[in-house]
Amino acid sequence: MSADIRLAVFDHLVHMHPGYFEDNAPSEIQSRITTDTTLLQTVIGSSVSIALRNILMFFGGMVLLFLTNAKLSLIVLGSVPFVVLPVIFFGRRVRTLSRSSQDRLADVGSHAGESFRHIKGADMRSFASRVEEALRVSLQRVWLRSVLIAVVMLLVFGAIAMLLWVGGQDVLAGNTSPGDLAAFIFYAFIVAGSVGAISEVWSDLQRAAGATERLIEILESPWAIVDGHGGGQSNSDQLHGLSLDRVNFTYPSRPEQAVLQDVSFAIAPGEMVALVGPSGAGKSTLFDLLQRFYDPDSGVISLAGDDIRSLKLQDLRGTFGFVPQDPVLFAGSLRENLTYAKENASDEEIATALKAANAGDFIAALPKGLETRVGEGGIGLSGGQRQRLAIARALLLKPSFLLLDEATSALDAESEQYIRQSVEALKGDMTILVIAHRLSTVRQANRILVLEEGALIASGSHDELIASNPLYARFANIQFST
Ligand code: ATP
Repeated sequence: MSADIRLAVFDHLVHMHPGYFEDNAPSEIQSRITTDTTLLQTVIGSSVSIALRNILMFFGGMVLLFLTNAKLSLIVLGSVPFVVLPVIFFGRRVRTLSRSSQDRLADVGSHAGESFRHIKGADMRSFASRVEEALRVSLQRVWLRSVLIAVVMLLVFGAIAMLLWVGGQDVLAGNTSPGDLAAFIFYAFIVAGSVGAISEVWSDLQRAAGATERLIEILESPWAIVDGHGGGQSNSDQLHGLSLDRVNFTYPSRPEQAVLQDVSFAIAPGEMVALVGPSGAGKSTLFDLLQRFYDPDSGVISLAGDDIRSLKLQDLRGTFGFVPQDPVLFAGSLRENLTYAKENASDEEIATALKAANAGDFIAALPKGLETRVGEGGIGLSGGQRQRLAIARALLLKPSFLLLDEATSALDAESEQYIRQSVEALKGDMTILVIAHRLSTVRQANRILVLEEGALIASGSHDELIASNPLYARFANIQFST
């Protein structure tokens, strides 16, 4: 059951739009998938069976009690509400505390995760305060729970003492045999024991309910991006053109700032277009919109003539080979990193992709080649190597459209040249849209689009734009002067 829940939650989360992870810290979500489901596993695995057994014992014991001595049984029964009421009362509070105790634990986990990622800035004091807070809340929970159990024990043994007294009187008066009383007390212990066990399980269940609430919250948060019906193109052998028609966009988390304003342009199949503009102009945002990580507020984006909202997300994203500015690599071998989107890639396909991305040579020069392990985030590779690996990874899926976010970080001249060469070789074989930070890339492109503060202000070749557009001339002078 907990494996199913884990899968369901993970499956829901990977389809979530990026905005969700701005409002919900990834590390907290991580703790929900691990800690909360583990809690459920414990409860389902052991507490439920304890509860089932004790419920059976309770009812069986009750029947035997009535068969043995109805009067004494009524006394036992009369004491049950006194036991059950505090259980319900305290149980609710245990549940609230359980939820906040899990939340505090998630804080601890997320802080630790962040510290390890930025180990040089780790702050012992603020971590300690989170641990203390988590401890405080769980102490509160444990305390409340022990009060609950103490109260229940007191009431149960009080009831038994009364039973012995009333029963003893009956035996002395000759109304009951000593054997019956002994049997009755034996049954009463079974019943009391099972009530005690059930009340303990009850508070466990309350904790699990707290955890479940958090998981359900995730499962019920809606997907902002809905899958299209498919159909239309999907013939990936063909080159795709792209067009944007009066696209407007603001980030949901910052509604007052228009990030793209009335952007319209078209890219012909096989064309290479460079996107330039100052930092914050909306270039990366445009890439996000093309891959439908967000939908525009108004306007239409079409791929090969089809509105991208009508396409299946998987087809749409499969059309684009995306190479981010700072490519994400996972801890693992280079081969795993290359093939994670296409696990069954043959050695030949890998070699072709590596060659096209100019990454074959540096990998061959590593002692372990493709089996070289890299750390989380690609520790152990240079920026240029990482980006070439990312290009190879994108090419492995044979995209018909390459989205390349050129690295701004200073690549060594050699890496830069390698990347330029591979782009040159790909030109014509696929449609290429590149966010360009270098003059050489801009010169390579068939056309340049200039984006400033979310608006498209010019389009043309570098030389044309230098001659005709003073804004571009000024921009190029600053951006490319180095
Ligand atoms: P750079 O070249 O520096 O990467 P860019 O042109 O790619 O810049 P974008 O990353 O598209 O710029 O950002 C455009 C604007 O949108 C910026 O003002 C940025 O602050 C804002 N922005 C980016 N991402 C988000 C987000 N997730 N939520 C809110 N605003 C955002």
